[in-house]
Amino acid sequence: MQTQMIHIDHLVKRYGSKYAVNDISFTVGEGEIVGFLGPNGAGKSTTMNIITGYLSYTSGTVEVGGLDIIDYAYEVKKMIGYLPEQPPLYNDMTVEDYLNFVYDLKKCTFNRKKHLMEICEVVRIADVYKRVIGHLSKGYRQRVGIAQALVGNPKILILDEPTIGLDPRQIVEVRNLIRTLGLDHTIILSTHILSEVQAVCDRVIIISRGKIVADKRTEDIATAVEGNRRISAKICGPQKEVLQTLRAITGVVSAEAVGQHDADSITYIIESQQGVDIRKPLFSALAKSNYPLIGLEPVGMGLEDVFLSLVDAKEPATKSRRKTVSRRSSTEVKE
Ligand code: ADP
Repeated sequence: MQTQMIHIDHLVKRYGSKYAVNDISFTVGEGEIVGFLGPNGAGKSTTMNIITGYLSYTSGTVEVGGLDIIDYAYEVKKMIGYLPEQPPLYNDMTVEDYLNFVYDLKKCTFNRKKHLMEICEVVRIADVYKRVIGHLSKGYRQRVGIAQALVGNPKILILDEPTIGLDPRQIVEVRNLIRTLGLDHTIILSTHILSEVQAVCDRVIIISRGKIVADKRTEDIATAVEGNRRISAKICGPQKEVLQTLRAITGVVSAEAVGQHDADSITYIIESQQGVDIRKPLFSALAKSNYPLIGLEPVGMGLEDVFLSLVDAKEPATKSRRKTVSRRSSTEVKE
């Protein structure tokens, strides 16, 4: 059986009357790469800051490597490498000085030179080892941030929005690096980008307004939210009649006109029942009515749609769970 590396049970973090994290529970197994996905303000950083011991919490239990993070704060800190959203870099230091500084701070006992060189090889910053951090590109600086998290060889890496602000090439590099690190680390990373999770994570925990609304294998997330299918079709002909034709097709749930880009064609969004491919009947119906179909493409589900469908679906469960929180007599941690 997979060893549990992180276990969170009914975690609550309140600021006054505002819940930043509102009764979340989840477990991360050894070697998993878990994506924490949610819009800004969802509670991702708060949860990560709590796991890393940088932030206290209101109630609940958090265990890392089987140890309670309050009772075993020192041991837990040694198990975790953390890259906060704003990496704690000293811009006037060289990479070498900075990593040595972090090495001392973490009171490492490995062979210093060998350990730091190994990290630099893994994150591919050996070529800038003697350079001043402030002079490096953002992609390099982010990798230096990841390097500091790796000092001390922690089993768990917590990466808060690791690709934010990077250009597309740097994003690909950092994602590849995370996948490589995932071979021998347990990783939680937060992001507000769905494609990021799909590119790197085994599993996704979707968090919205301080609550978990989905916890699934990455490959299952699309089917979990797929529901009805939508396609965009560009059709020539009078809007009212075209809409009537579309809505009469078996399997079509809805059809709406969304834009007119040239004189004689209009774009429609057509939603069909789950599992029904309406492309052929659509083509036949339009051909029969002599309304030429000049463009057809699937409409992907955006992050907003994923959220809306998940949040809506979970609303009743959310209400009943709230009661469980108030009944719990969990560890109260003072601010
Ligand atoms: P995310 O990382 O998902 O963007 P955060 O964890 O930073 O979200 O924030 C969750 C919620 O908690 C937000 O509504 C935020 O405004 C609130 N929050 C975070 N820190 C504080 C604080 N120090 N005081 C009051 N509210 C806070």
